[in-house]
Amino acid sequence: LSDRLEAAWKKLRGQDKISQSNIQDALREVRRALLEADVNLQVVKDFISEVEAKAQGAEVVTGVRPDQQFIKIVYDELVRVMGEENVPIAEAQEQPTIVLMAGLQGTGKTTATAKLALHLRKLDRSCLLVATDVYRPAAIDQLVTLGKQIDVPVFELGSDADPIEIARQGVERARAEGVNTVIIDTAGRLQIDEDMMAELARIKATVQPHETLLVVDAMTGQEAANLTRTFHEQIGITGAILTKMDGDSRGGAALSVRKISGAPIKFVGVGEKVEALQPFYPDRMASRILGMGDVLTLVEKAQEEFDLADAEKMQEKILSAKFDFTDFLKQLRMLKNMGSLGGFIKMIPGMNKLSDDQLKQGETQLKRCEAMINSMTRQERHDPDLLASSPSRRRRIAAGSGYRESDVTKLVGDFQKMRSLMQQMGQGGFPGMPGMFGG
Ligand code: GDP
Ligand code: MG
Repeated sequence: LSDRLEAAWKKLRGQDKISQSNIQDALREVRRALLEADVNLQVVKDFISEVEAKAQGAEVVTGVRPDQQFIKIVYDELVRVMGEENVPIAEAQEQPTIVLMAGLQGTGKTTATAKLALHLRKLDRSCLLVATDVYRPAAIDQLVTLGKQIDVPVFELGSDADPIEIARQGVERARAEGVNTVIIDTAGRLQIDEDMMAELARIKATVQPHETLLVVDAMTGQEAANLTRTFHEQIGITGAILTKMDGDSRGGAALSVRKISGAPIKFVGVGEKVEALQPFYPDRMASRILGMGDVLTLVEKAQEEFDLADAEKMQEKILSAKFDFTDFLKQLRMLKNMGSLGGFIKMIPGMNKLSDDQLKQGETQLKRCEAMINSMTRQERHDPDLLASSPSRRRRIAAGSGYRESDVTKLVGDFQKMRSLMQQMGQGGFPGMPGMFGG
């Protein structure tokens, strides 16, 4: 019921701070969630041991359990590690800005090239697309078709030309025509191979791009880590685009890519259409990777509701016997804001064994208390003893709130009992949970 009670209860059970022993289950759950989201195993191990070390000794917010608090810390850390949101595409001081697309075949490079051009054009940055994938017959046509769709020119020299030469000339053309950004689409292989890497490295050395974006299919799973490492070591990337996030993937590749390369994810692809490109938001991705939205919401709510200063003031009041019906009402409302009472009470350690009936009863009681307190005058709220000594006041409140006089009498009696219990507790005793809402 009160912050103080719960704080004392937590302390007694060693649950007021995060420790190795009270987050074991949560650790296991987080590990499982990350692996299920296809975060690379090594990345998971490193990440978890970092967060675990950081979380040790952290205070547990009133209204949540240590393991829940830990999951929130994991989430916050996940957001932090995945980096700043929405890092824009670099813009060179001298036009054109050169963007090189890299990645395996089928990951969505060509599609992302067009998506990116459409995005930049909306920012008033003119584009030229360059088709250097001369290996697959349809690849050049694919880019040309996409270019027509979005009304962006495509530079190509057919499929007999040398990719490096195409890239070089493409950039020259962009410079000559005063285009803002030139995006070079490249060939990929089904697996990383040396020829592909060598060719990409040569294109890069020739055109000196301002951005080298690794396009990663979110469905790549565990392999995203190796892929990123190879591309980053051999080519060097400045950012990534995570494609096919419209599928089932929970997006663990985002964490792997970021942890391994340090480069930000700049966009996510969410469909086959050219419009289906979204900026990357680390908080959304963290929620998706963890898949523990309910717990996060709970902890966030608890943190908002239990404003620390307020809680301290309340504690002082309780100890100095100034705790009155107005404070009580405040606490009732706080409980209500936390969602259903049943849901809330189940999260308090030791309280989860209450039956549904008991919980329902508790909620009815809360409503009843609130109604009766609402019918009190300010003076009465401030000084419950007034009510204890005046049947006529109790009758008036009963009539006003639609309850019986005996209900009001019981409320006042219970309140006084609770207050004296709280005071005893403040003096070092711990009398157990008062049966305030027992019916
Ligand atoms: P590339 O070989 O790397 O150039 O890949 P493509 O751009 O040709 O894309 C391969 C396939 O993936 C095509 O069928 C695309 O339509 C599809 N694709 C690309 N990006 C996305 C995406 O974000 N979501 C979905 N569902 N499909 C995508
Ligand atoms: Mg392609």
